[in-house]
Amino acid sequence: MLLQLEQENARLRAQLESLLREGRRNQDRMRRLDAIERQLIAANSLSELVLLLLSQYRSAFGVEQVTLILIDPEQLLQKLLAEPGPSATPSRLCPTLLPAAKNLQALYGPELAPWMGRYQHQQHAALFHSPVIGIESVALLPLVRQGELVGSLHFGSRNPERYGASSGTEFLERFTGIVAVCMESALNRDRLRGISLTDGLTGVQNRRYFEQRCKIEVSQAKRHRLPLACMFLDVDRFKFVNDSYGHPTGDAVLRSVAGAIQAQLRLGDTVARYGGEEFVVTLPRTDQAGAREIAERIRRDIEAKRFQTQCGKAIQLTISIGLTMLDAEQICADHEAAASQLVAQADKALYQAKSGGRNRVEWLDFSV
Ligand code: GH3
Ligand code: MG
Ligand code: MG
Repeated sequence: MLLQLEQENARLRAQLESLLREGRRNQDRMRRLDAIERQLIAANSLSELVLLLLSQYRSAFGVEQVTLILIDPEQLLQKLLAEPGPSATPSRLCPTLLPAAKNLQALYGPELAPWMGRYQHQQHAALFHSPVIGIESVALLPLVRQGELVGSLHFGSRNPERYGASSGTEFLERFTGIVAVCMESALNRDRLRGISLTDGLTGVQNRRYFEQRCKIEVSQAKRHRLPLACMFLDVDRFKFVNDSYGHPTGDAVLRSVAGAIQAQLRLGDTVARYGGEEFVVTLPRTDQAGAREIAERIRRDIEAKRFQTQCGKAIQLTISIGLTMLDAEQICADHEAAASQLVAQADKALYQAKSGGRNRVEWLDFSV
């Protein structure tokens, strides 16, 4: 009887110790989670948030892989995340962007419920960075905003028991709820910043943005030893449009011209309204032949277009374009000075296009 009681006592003590250990582990986990959540809440932009999520969580919780998928039907996130920073982000710290949520929806079912359990190569390999080595258990967490699936966060652990059907999901569910809210707020901050850097009439970037961006482009061109072309564009005889058909028609024409320029550019190129009827473009990783080709495409497109006036008439317009290019070797230590020289040289080339008869592309070599 006494032996039985002693045995029972030892069993209870062991149980209690295990519970205490579990409690301490949970407390510790909570503390680390809390620290990460605070950082996420303070994130200033979507790219900062994503970087935090993909780097901090992994190191704080010792999981093998953390990956993120975001749904980006309008390619807005792609644009925000492509903003050039001080250095290129390693691909492990970049989310995967999908145009639609359909495939992810199948992963979570109509309830959009998190899933935890053993790693199954056929179903899960596409969610992680390949080669997937050493991942034994996974937590798949849907990011939901206003009832809609907007992304998916995945943790992969070496420990087969780490994520299982029986392990509590409250921690991670709470965490993904916070991530979804932080994402919304970071996006709003990005949008607000976008408004202050966008031209209100045409929707392309404004001069303020361009000046910041051009400096970054110059330093990246230098670092990666790549050419950087610049294009200055000015609508020909635009005053005539305003004088003949009124300012609102002039405004509509400017919007169409901006759209026509944008349509010929790639994702990494930047177009800004420099002022009035003048636009400026940077073309990273583009040499003279490439820049000429893009400029000619824009010129021909504007020439072929019919712009609608307010009184229903279709009018034709032309555009003059000045081009120049900076070689990495030509960039001095002062990137700001190099950026303004680049624009000034493209403007000079534009002046030549105007004095040479308009509706043409002119090239000028960059000179200091
Ligand atoms: P050029 O071929 O030499 O470039 O001739 P231009 O008439 O295009 O050039 P000019 O500089 O003489 O006229 C530019 C006109 O652009 C004058 C101005 O009224 C008009 N403008 C500037 N900003 C706006 C705007 O926001 N909306 C409209 N509708 N017109 C604008
Ligand atoms: Mg002008
Ligand atoms: Mg003009």
